Amino acid sequence: MTGVFETDVAFLKGVGPQKAELLNKELQIFTYGDLISHFPFRYEDRSSFYKINQLNPNLPHVQVIGRMGKVETQGMGRKKRLVAQFADETGVMELTWFKGIQWVSKKLLPGSVYVAFGKPALFGRKYSMAHPELEPLTQRDKGQNTLQPIYPTTEKLRARFLDSKGISKVMAQLIRQVHAHIQETLPLHIRTQFGLMDKQAAIQQIHFPVNEVSMNKAAYRLKFEEFFFLQLRLLRLKLSRTEKFAGQVLNDTQLLTTFYNSHLPFDLTNAQKRVMKEIYADLKSGKQMNRLIQGDVGSGKTIVAFISLLVAIGSGTQTCLMAPTEILATQHYEGLLPYAKKMGLTISLLTGSTKKSLREKIHQALISGHLKILIGTHALLEDVVAFQNLGLAIIDEQHRFGVAQRAKLWAKNKQHYPHVLVMTATPIPRTLAMTLYGDLDISVIDELPSGRKAIQTVHRYDKDRLKVFGFIRKEIEKGRQVYLVYPLIEESEKSDLKNLMDGYESICRAFPEFPIGILHGNMKSADKEYEMARFVKGETKILVATTVIEVGVNVPNASVMVIENAERFGLSQLHQLRGRVGRGASQSYCILMSKYELSKDSRVRLETMVRTNNGFEIADVDLKLRGPGDLAGTQQSGLTDLTIADLSKDAPILSQARQAAVDLLHADPELVHPHHACIKAQIKRQKKGALNWSRIS
Ligand code: ADP
Ligand code: MG
Repeated sequence: MTGVFETDVAFLKGVGPQKAELLNKELQIFTYGDLISHFPFRYEDRSSFYKINQLNPNLPHVQVIGRMGKVETQGMGRKKRLVAQFADETGVMELTWFKGIQWVSKKLLPGSVYVAFGKPALFGRKYSMAHPELEPLTQRDKGQNTLQPIYPTTEKLRARFLDSKGISKVMAQLIRQVHAHIQETLPLHIRTQFGLMDKQAAIQQIHFPVNEVSMNKAAYRLKFEEFFFLQLRLLRLKLSRTEKFAGQVLNDTQLLTTFYNSHLPFDLTNAQKRVMKEIYADLKSGKQMNRLIQGDVGSGKTIVAFISLLVAIGSGTQTCLMAPTEILATQHYEGLLPYAKKMGLTISLLTGSTKKSLREKIHQALISGHLKILIGTHALLEDVVAFQNLGLAIIDEQHRFGVAQRAKLWAKNKQHYPHVLVMTATPIPRTLAMTLYGDLDISVIDELPSGRKAIQTVHRYDKDRLKVFGFIRKEIEKGRQVYLVYPLIEESEKSDLKNLMDGYESICRAFPEFPIGILHGNMKSADKEYEMARFVKGETKILVATTVIEVGVNVPNASVMVIENAERFGLSQLHQLRGRVGRGASQSYCILMSKYELSKDSRVRLETMVRTNNGFEIADVDLKLRGPGDLAGTQQSGLTDLTIADLSKDAPILSQARQAAVDLLHADPELVHPHHACIKAQIKRQKKGALNWSRIS
């Protein structure tokens, strides 16, 4: 029934084996199904016509109706060209060709009326169009297909007559041939509820719209469908998992209560309390938890993590906390060590540089069940790291880890998968979170601990450097510390290092009176630790660093973050870096240094940083600037498979589609109702096409 869409494109009339091979290579189009999903990326309005005396050189591509006059070749050798006179009642213009002269000249019929489409240029006092598209006027069915589809194509395809127009020709052929085979994928009740065009019409109209209204309706329908099935997939995954995987019941709150009453150094914010409750509800539910905590930098995720650990340990299991870098893991370890000591709990740190003897001890303590909290880096994932009973695994800064690693953690407890808590400080817009992490439950810590002063952010140009240095000096004299961050500029680490070193030297010259530290990715981890420790203790006043300090590092006394070449950083990275200050009680500052000439995007980024501290707002702007493809994590999410929907523009459609999917699964979780057979069939087709989806989570 659907077999026709699996037909090799080579069999399509007008394609053939040679063009098919190019379509395979250039556009990954192998089958009829692939081709029909090769959507136009824009349309050209062919509904209006210009008179020759209305032309001006600033116009984009336009169409002119005229009568073909004299056609002749002019010039010699490389300057040889074909020139045709083309006239309407208001004037005369020239059509010119520099290539394919013989072929074109044979086709032009002087005296006939054509529609010429091209970009007008003024030469002397005459307008001309180079290589216009020409169509005899009679061939046109006026009022039909006035929006011409423009398809993505490539140079190689163009050379084989598969330019946009060529593609549109084979597309027309294909649609004529398969139109009747196009299966509806959405049940009538959903189409009615959301005012969606039926699938056959949508495919027809997306390629050959009769007008703008139906083009938009077709696009809406197809985007909705795409989001709908993506959401459905994620939601079903979640559903099947919560049903399939029992979790250990972790409900003992004794440790938690002791900690809360005697050792918690501050009051939790309401947001922290709320998220704690959500986690606790999961832990005691008997179902395996897969929860994401989104919380802006400084919102206090770590303490929430620790309290969760206490529930798990109190209930007789072991726990681990994994961080993406050694610095961060170490800092977590050092931060939690005093709490653990007070609670009488064993805690260890395991990273790539943990000594072998210690490592072996840790392995044993894990197996015996003696070790209750293991903190570390990727090193935790190695097979030799085996627990007696891992109850809760926490991953900090999720965006550095892939889904595969989450899965590896799961496997650490074969009897009962551990509960998994993922923490990220990359705030992403809700719509995107729903899609990216659609298989996770989401908690948001949307409140900063009280008493924090908002970080003041300013943008300064390189010429203001002396003033900036003066400001830094004053802050240090007040007892504060300063980060100075350099971007990774060149491809090679060597020249990055040089950039950083130059910066370091000039800072040393500018501040001879202060101890200054340096930190970068190429340093041995012992050296990194040493430098970091000096800064944490306040021994160094300025830390010159690359983005290794980006994630999670916590030095409350640091009150100034200077970012050099700020125009080179992405928004979310800038926001992360800024989050390294403003962690103590004093007023903090972020100074974005840049050159004077800025691209439009860079300017928007810097202005956004200056305007707001709100991570979600920043994430929104970021998404608009970059599109979702660049966001970390999207690679594995299936988002990059979107063919027509665009997350940065189509968020409202996504919300609707998600709602529809939620409602559907609520009403008919197994999709057994006859009305939903079309949905099942589509899921099956997609499974066939995307085997790697099953790897997700
Ligand atoms: P992040 O969410 O960025 O990981 P952290 O967990 O590192 O933030 O917390 C940042 C700082 O705020 C830490 O010094 C932490 O001790 C402190 N903190 C966390 N929660 C609170 C709170 N409710 N009140 C006061 N300080 C808090
Ligand atoms: Mg953190």
